[in-house]
Amino acid sequence: MAGIVLENVSKTYPGGGKAVIDFNLEIADKEFVVLVGPSGCGKSTTLRMIAGLEECTSGRIYIGGECMNGVEPKDRDIAMVFQSYALYRHMTVYDNMAFGLKIKKVPKKEIDRRVREIAEILGLTDKLKKKPSAMSGGECQRVALGRALVRQPRVFLFDEPLSNLDAKLRTQMRSEIIRLHENVQTTFVYVTHDQTEAMTMGDRIVVMDHGVIQQAASPREIYDRPANMFTAGFIGTPQINFFKANEIGASGSSDVIVGIRPEDLHLAPCDGAVIGSGNVEFIELLGASMNVHLSMNGHNVIMTCPVDNSIARGNTYEIWAEKGKSRLFDASTGLAIASKTEAEA
Ligand code: ADP
Repeated sequence: MAGIVLENVSKTYPGGGKAVIDFNLEIADKEFVVLVGPSGCGKSTTLRMIAGLEECTSGRIYIGGECMNGVEPKDRDIAMVFQSYALYRHMTVYDNMAFGLKIKKVPKKEIDRRVREIAEILGLTDKLKKKPSAMSGGECQRVALGRALVRQPRVFLFDEPLSNLDAKLRTQMRSEIIRLHENVQTTFVYVTHDQTEAMTMGDRIVVMDHGVIQQAASPREIYDRPANMFTAGFIGTPQINFFKANEIGASGSSDVIVGIRPEDLHLAPCDGAVIGSGNVEFIELLGASMNVHLSMNGHNVIMTCPVDNSIARGNTYEIWAEKGKSRLFDASTGLAIASKTEAEA
């Protein structure tokens, strides 16, 4: 068990651009941190540098207080789980899980104890004699987790481990990994491009773009107080709406961008203000709730609400924005503005 510190870490690939730029982060012991951002933003590179699979171009990485620069991956006492679980298909689940420990010459009895204990946690006890070729993708990913867990590493690194699974399985495995974190009490660093995964799993989310940390905070904090337009737009689904302040009658000019989340818009009067009138272009029914897509002065606006059969395609409504829920951004820098005018927007 150990915390991780990344200090001014940068990575430039030979002949490539800058993949990670001056990355600074302290991850506490037993914390569950999720690195999230669009494809190519440098998440995997950061994770691979923690693992020692890539050298940092500059900066330092500490695990448990020890500088890891130049330390071989196998000597870092970490375990990594990838998207492709790469199990030995001709070996049983038991042997797949035991393999790494056998190589380390851990006594047989101890191997057996650890494999059975972890199999129990992962619900694999009755599958120990099976071979991966006869198992589903979700079960195989669970074995891959088990194989990593039996090594009792002090840090767990996950690189998009669920992106090959179908939606239902992904949701299920998501909760399993959260539970696992609670059970094993080890530091988890988890990479994903999926903002829902990030929001639901992390104690803390690190949003990256173009190799740079955009914001590192709790899911709630990031959602409620995005540091900039990138984070506001990346976290939250459906996506936040952006308007120029002068376009929606808010005090301010085109230099100020107002961000309003879909759930903070309404098509009936609320404690707030009208920002314009919109024509319903289409509606997505999601079960208990629905997304309403409107066109307002040529702008696409999306609002979300509990299912309401009175809202119909083709109709025009006043669009109301709840008081105090708008986020303001500087149009030129994209940075959040902490401003008293927020409530007026
Ligand atoms: P992410 O995990 O967020 O998708 P990566 O860390 O894989 O991003 O990649 C970050 C950037 O570094 C991308 O522009 C990618 O093309 C580049 N990159 C990744 N791996 C290599 C490599 N081995 N050689 C050269 N460029 C690379």
